[in-house]
Amino acid sequence: MIIVPEKEIAGLISAEECFEAVEAVFAAMARGEAWNFPVVREAIGHADALYGFKSGFDRAGLVLGLKSGGYWPGNMARGLTNHQSTVVLFDPDTGQARALVGGNLLTALRTAAASAVSIRHLARKDARVLGMVGAGHQSAFQLRAAVREREFEKVVGWNYHPEMLPRLAETAEELGLPFEAVSLEELGAQADVIVTITSSFEAQLKEAHIRPGTHLACMGTDTKGKQEVDPAILARARVFTDEVAQSVSIGEAQHAVAAGLIGAGDITQIGAVIAGLAPGRQSADEITLFDGTGVGLQDLAVAARAVEIARARGVAVEIDF
Ligand code: NAD
Repeated sequence: MIIVPEKEIAGLISAEECFEAVEAVFAAMARGEAWNFPVVREAIGHADALYGFKSGFDRAGLVLGLKSGGYWPGNMARGLTNHQSTVVLFDPDTGQARALVGGNLLTALRTAAASAVSIRHLARKDARVLGMVGAGHQSAFQLRAAVREREFEKVVGWNYHPEMLPRLAETAEELGLPFEAVSLEELGAQADVIVTITSSFEAQLKEAHIRPGTHLACMGTDTKGKQEVDPAILARARVFTDEVAQSVSIGEAQHAVAAGLIGAGDITQIGAVIAGLAPGRQSADEITLFDGTGVGLQDLAVAARAVEIARARGVAVEIDF
């Protein structure tokens, strides 16, 4: 069995390699060659922790496994990350455990890769201004991955907690792009692509904020009750997602569906666009919205890639198991 420790991940896998892994597994899902299994998420009644599993099988890539972990709110006080995850990969021919991979950084990279995939396939080619709503841990990863996809000339940002905005400003500076902190009205007026990555439970972006032709990647809503944007935006947009079942139940679309504004049949798997089975953006004026809910297969895809690279570079720890 191979162990790829968390501390090795940063030096192993690039944003482009994560992008390729996530794009390929989204396409495999749409072709019916890869499946996610039902998600388990439970409050364990200890340490206020939420613990769960995301799992799946990619028959095309022969990747079988699970990501296990969750949220331990007291970790920060111990000098640890509150979100903890570990990926276990199994040999699909024998069921034997094949690899144990640190999953914390991979989670941020695979989430950023998903919105980048949506930007590559759905945003206008002439998009020049990137809007960021959210300035937490994930936001810097999102910003770095998004700017790779278009020739962005400027980043505009808004956050519910303005004191967190320096994270966006510093990341934009690192990327050589000017940054401007703006109101939501100004953000919608300027941005061609908007990434939302917050833990909000009510709509921040309103329909009036969004211009024709905008692409939105809504990445923060991954639980029942969370919400980042006005459901009226989904009614007006063409809506895409990683997995329709998650989009309508725990994703941003849950609210528009509950309000009867759209149905599951109005939502397209992004993998179908990647695989050439469904059209992507059809006009310059269309609003496109990607509801990124986060699926286990994304985690498995990037973990399997990290294992391949670790083996090739000789940094994987191999043990008899
Ligand atoms: P974080 O705790 O570091 O940052 C939270 C962000 O949400 C900050 O921008 C904060 O200002 C904002 N926020 C907090 N309370 C708010 C409120 N009441 N209204 C509006 N905004 C509020 O979190 P993070 O690690 O950056 O994660 C952000 C979100 O992304 C979380 O909801 C997380 O569950 C989600 N997430 C989704 C995926 C996926 O695959 N879709 C993957 C990882 C994380």
